[in-house]
Amino acid sequence: MFNKFFKNKARIIEITDPDRIYIENVRSFFNISSKFAKFLCETAVRQGLFEKKVAIECTNEDCKRIIKVFDSSEILPEELTCIICELEGKEKYKYYKNEYKLIEFYKLVKDERN
Ligand SMILES: [Zn+2]
Repeated sequence: MFNKFFKNKARIIEITDPDRIYIENVRSFFNISSKFAKFLCETAVRQGLFEKKVAIECTNEDCKRIIKVFDSSEILPEELTCIICELEGKEKYKYYKNEYKLIEFYKLVKDERN
């Protein structure tokens, strides 16, 4: 299964953005459970193929922009501001750590041999 997964790495890139690989993409691509898809992604991280990232999304319905992307190992700041929403004068533009909407995804590590 791992071999199949890693050999198919190139095919995953065809169907998805290599900088934004979501567990859901991997799940549907291999037609496996979300739990197993997560396990495969975490294995790819340990093998140095993927980097794990965390995006923080603005929760305003008409915005939903990614405010900032962090490495999963990074410590998240206590607060973040959606600059777009602040500029537009929206009521909600400042987010505190406990209200962050986190989106986990993976990034394909560029093959340095090429
Ligand atoms: Zn916003």
